[in-house]
Amino acid sequence: MAKILNALIMGNPLLLNVSQKVEDPLSEEIQTNIEDMFATIHSFGERVGLAAPQVGILKRIIVYRVPAKPLNARYGLISNKGQEDIPWSVLINPTITPIGEEKSPGWEGCISVPGILGEVNRYNQISYSGMNEKGEEIERTASGFHARLIQHECDHLDGILFPMRVHDLSRFGFEAEILAQSGK
Ligand code: ZN
Repeated sequence: MAKILNALIMGNPLLLNVSQKVEDPLSEEIQTNIEDMFATIHSFGERVGLAAPQVGILKRIIVYRVPAKPLNARYGLISNKGQEDIPWSVLINPTITPIGEEKSPGWEGCISVPGILGEVNRYNQISYSGMNEKGEEIERTASGFHARLIQHECDHLDGILFPMRVHDLSRFGFEAEILAQSGK
């Protein structure tokens, strides 16, 4: 049975670690980690991504999805429209290569930073690769919200939380207030 794990929040030093590469994605241990990560993220309702260190597993694994439409007001603010729909996916030992130099600001939130949003600059377009839960190689290009999400989740594997990338603290605050101000 998959377990719902305790989600760590900012202030917990485990979130600041550089996570370890996964040697064998097919091992029982890694398969259990992935099942537990899915059980945990589903327990949060409408979310789009989780990195293993957010639940205290210091391994280079992320799970994510890209909904075609914003899931709720929060994602209406933080996601751009017209994205391709990607169902829940697993990415192990991801690497990211920016395509071009261009970055754009966009709002981000995080299970590890509850109730807070902040504006972060991310590459507009990236290619990324890694393995899925079956050990198969994955390679994708991504832009917009999809690219932002992958960069955000992969940051967790290097101990970086999105507030550490907020340059303008006037664009950082409580989600409820930012949504109210934006009219969403
Ligand atoms: Zn996060």
